[in-house]
Amino acid sequence: MFGTGLLKGLGVTLKHALDTFEDDRESVPDRYKGSLELGNNRRVIQQPIDQEGLLTIQYPEEKRLLPERFRYIPMLIWDSEKQEDRCTACGICAKVCPPQCIWIVRDSDENGKPVTRCSEFYIDAAVCMSCSFCVEFCPFDAIKMNHDYELAVYDRYPQLVYDMEELTVPLEYYAALWPTQYEEEQARRKQEEEEKRKQEEEKAAKAAARAAAKSAAAAEKPAAGAPKRSAAELQALAKERAAQRQAQAAEGGGDDDAAAAKRARMEDLKRRAQERARQRKQDSGQ
Ligand code: SF4
Ligand code: SF4
Repeated sequence: MFGTGLLKGLGVTLKHALDTFEDDRESVPDRYKGSLELGNNRRVIQQPIDQEGLLTIQYPEEKRLLPERFRYIPMLIWDSEKQEDRCTACGICAKVCPPQCIWIVRDSDENGKPVTRCSEFYIDAAVCMSCSFCVEFCPFDAIKMNHDYELAVYDRYPQLVYDMEELTVPLEYYAALWPTQYEEEQARRKQEEEEKRKQEEEKAAKAAARAAAKSAAAAEKPAAGAPKRSAAELQALAKERAAQRQAQAAEGGGDDDAAAAKRARMEDLKRRAQERARQRKQDSGQ
């Protein structure tokens, strides 16, 4: 029937209004169930999933508990375990930032050589669009999204340009804001470190095995050249070699006689050939 949907929608709105009214009339409203008291009438309220009606939050005394994946302006992580900034000044976040609101100055050592840390890191919060690209692309888990949204200031510049000191937070702060993500990251980092340690151990074991094989080969080399026969054997061998040499010399003399006989035979053949040639010449002259 025409208008049924409209009436249905109005009914839902009316139900929410009545539920809200009912909750507001109670001295301890349902909305405070499970809320976190901060003192001075300040509370952080988490609306239960079964809560009916719209909650009126008495901001700024009362605030909503933000969902973990809420994101506002990035923050830089100070690794409390290693006592160092996680940022290595690689500059990837500045490259991928769509409105280009990050700029970084890389630090250098006493010789002027660039090192893997920042000396300056700025984010223009007035330009940042909370897209979280910088977080997605950072290879070192060094930049994360902060939940802090109360950033109102009187002057945009320079108050909304955050420097490294304003952006840096300890790891524990990040762990409290993003507990699920932090746990996942820690598990991944632990696994990566374990794999890296195993690879290094394997590499060291291989290097040690190579070095052992090399030294074993070096130890075997002089053994190969070392005398394998006793002194008496060597003397006998020397005598044998001397006798062989004498025999060879004697054989060499025999060779000389044979060569002389060969030479004489050749001379004889040559002489006979010359005689025959002379004879042929005389015969042809007749
Ligand atoms: S925050 Fe991450 S991506 Fe950006 S410079 Fe530092 S290490 Fe590189
Ligand atoms: S959240 Fe987006 S806009 Fe803001 S600094 Fe990161 S990349 Fe840039």
